[in-house]
Amino acid sequence: MWEAHRSCNYRCPYCFWDPHWGKQDDSRRPAGDWIGCWGRVEEKYGPLKISVVGGEPLIFPECDKLFQRLTARSFVALVSNLSPSLTSIDKLLAVVTRKNFMVTASFHPHFAVFDDFAAKARLLKDAGCLESILIVAYPPQLEDIQEPMRRLESMGIGVNIRTFKGEYGGRDYPACYTEEERSFLRPLLNQKSVSYNLEKRTTRGRLCYAGKYYAMVDSQGKVYRCGADAQNCLGNIFDPNFELLSAPARCPSEWCACRTFQYLVEEYDKLASSGGGPAKIK
Ligand code: SF4
Ligand code: SF4
Repeated sequence: MWEAHRSCNYRCPYCFWDPHWGKQDDSRRPAGDWIGCWGRVEEKYGPLKISVVGGEPLIFPECDKLFQRLTARSFVALVSNLSPSLTSIDKLLAVVTRKNFMVTASFHPHFAVFDDFAAKARLLKDAGCLESILIVAYPPQLEDIQEPMRRLESMGIGVNIRTFKGEYGGRDYPACYTEEERSFLRPLLNQKSVSYNLEKRTTRGRLCYAGKYYAMVDSQGKVYRCGADAQNCLGNIFDPNFELLSAPARCPSEWCACRTFQYLVEEYDKLASSGGGPAKIK
């Protein structure tokens, strides 16, 4: 997962960065630096699966050039709020290699206008480049997301719900979802997400391939095993001698906050043996 930069034109109250906007280093390296860097990593490890998050990846300067180059060899999966205009998304679709380009569109009811968002989602869907829509189950917007979900699903567009992680109203989530909220969420989450994210099944001490098959790269190129292991930097991806871990290592975290629990050895090997294992590096 590559956190391209820490800039966004939205300020969602449930954003991971919300307490940090304006405080953190939001500098970014230019597109040309990243094109050279990812090219070197491709030479070493072969075609990659690069999941691009932010901030907002589609406001990264020269993102058309960047994603045109990256999709020529690797698979790029973006998470975007679809705030750029329909025309600029259309222009991007004209230059990327579409079979290597996929967008998960995140719908944020505080900022996006549904009809405008839905038109862009449809454009991506028709181009074969829409993975699904992502909506955060932020406690005060649980009722508001039901109508957009229904309308998107009626357009044949799948919606994925993510549990909220953080504090709201002095309560810690996802632990503090009420029983009624849990009943609403359970059918919308897959069984593993219920277990690891909603019920917080412990992961501490279990062997995980994060750092070997998956890594998190920040806006300056620093590499971490995953979001939960941010204290231990594995090195910098701009260093020509940078290496991923050669073997799985134990999880340092009480629970896995994102969907990266899929890299736990037992989960990964089970999926891989059924032919559905996740890509080896993101
Ligand atoms: S669109 Fe995404 S990155 Fe931007 S503020 Fe909202 S959650 Fe954060
Ligand atoms: S289980 Fe999750 S939190 Fe633990 S090391 Fe793996 S990816 Fe990181």
